[in-house]
Formats: sequence, structure tokens, C-alpha cells
Amino acid sequence: MGPVSTGPTHAISGLAAWAAVTALAADSAIGNLSTKGWLVGAILATGAALLPDLDHPESTVSATFGPVTQAASSLLNGLSSGLYRLTRTKRDSKRGGGHRGFTHTLVFAVIATVVTTAIVQTSRSWALPLLMFFFCGLAVRGIMHKWSPRHDALWITGTALILTYACLKWTDHSDANAAACGVAVGIGCIAHYLGDAITEQGCPILWPVPIGLKTWYPVAPPKILRMRTGGRVEMALVGPVLTVVAIWMSAIALHRTGALPMLDGIRLAPWT
Ligand SMILES: [Zn+2]
Repeated sequence: MGPVSTGPTHAISGLAAWAAVTALAADSAIGNLSTKGWLVGAILATGAALLPDLDHPESTVSATFGPVTQAASSLLNGLSSGLYRLTRTKRDSKRGGGHRGFTHTLVFAVIATVVTTAIVQTSRSWALPLLMFFFCGLAVRGIMHKWSPRHDALWITGTALILTYACLKWTDHSDANAAACGVAVGIGCIAHYLGDAITEQGCPILWPVPIGLKTWYPVAPPKILRMRTGGRVEMALVGPVLTVVAIWMSAIALHRTGALPMLDGIRLAPWT
């Protein structure tokens, strides 16, 4: 488990990544969503940026829905450490592998993308609301990191319910693009990996591709660019920069969907 301050950073990184991809991919399907479809994706990506840490039963995010997510987390932790032991090489470290294992790989991001797409395709009337509820919960849990996991589980569940209700009241169920929902979850996961990679331990993003004879090679930038989890650099620099990117890119993407007509005539994207 990282210090509590990483929750909001992860959450905002998910939103920033979704906003950036949709803003920059102007010529693709993902760059031409409806306003509502974009907002559904934004919530999914923000929540999904907390998803990988469900592999740690004591993480803040595992406390999101109380015993339910804690049980799921224990299961995921066991699965992850089993997979780690099964596929590690002699060069990989002898850590347990339950945390920062399988849920911190591109393979998991792809699976999460496919499963989300399938769920949304199954039913927009009940599966999508359920999915939104789950990711709203993760997003709120991540952002409201000061809420006590143990004492405020009801608050978190209540807030997620209200958010989901508001979202669904406002979104036409058929408006959500199943593939875009899947991509949003995948983008959120990848944003999480990048965040973990720039902290000290790195992230085994490329498993099971062996790098230096390690299948769980912890991908990380050169030491000078790495940060202490929850350290001063993160707080003073990364958080605000991500927030600016999230707001700026969201403005571009939302403006393109036809929302925010007041931004007409303003050159939001200097590269176009
Ligand atoms: Zn993590």
C-alpha cells in the first residue's frame, strides 16, 4: 500500500489520460463521442486508475465497498501471488508478488478493456449502471482519501450511489459506446501503471515479456526521474500539472462533443 496521498494523484491521472487521448485522437471513433458518452468514459477512467491496487487487501481502494471489495481483494491477491510464483524466473525478486503483480500489467489492462466492453454490450439498462456504480465508488474512494476506509464505507457507497443515479438520470443508457467504455477502463489502468513506474519500485507492465531474464521486470524510468511515493515532488508538482492537463484536455474533448459552446473561437489546441 502506498501512502494515502497517491489516491487522488492516481484518480486525476486517469481523468487526464482519458481527456488527453480523446482530445488528441480527433480523427478516430474515440475522439468523436457524444458529450454523455465522453462523461461516462471520464468516470470509468478515473475509477479504473484505482483498480490495479485492488490486489492489496489493505489498500484504501480495497476498502471502497467494505467487506465486499476486501474479499475480492484477498482473492485477487492470492491469484496474483500464485501467478507470480508460477511465472517468475530465478532473476525475479523473491517478493510475494500478490501486490503490484498481475493487475499491474498490460495483459490485465487488455482483459479489463475486453470485459468492460462485453459487460456494457450485455445490457445498458442494468450492467452499465452497475459498472458505473463500481467505478464511481473507486473514483470517490481515490479522491476522498481522507475519508476513513473503515468508518466511512457507507459515505463512500452513498456518494457513489448518488453520483451513479445522477449520471444515469442524465445519460441516455443507449448513449454509452461499449467499446469506448472498455477503452476508458484500459486507459485508467495504464495511467495507474505509469504512476507506479515513476515511484521507486517500478511496475511489471510488460509481463510476461522477459527483460533481462525477468518476466516481472519492474519497468521504471532512470533513477533521477523516480519519485518517492507521496513525496514532496509528487505533491508540489505532479498533482497540479496533472490537474491542469486534465482540465485543459477535457475542455478540448468536451468542446468537440458540442458541449461548452462558450469556448467557440478560442484556440484551445495550439497544435491544430
Ligand atoms: Zn499500484
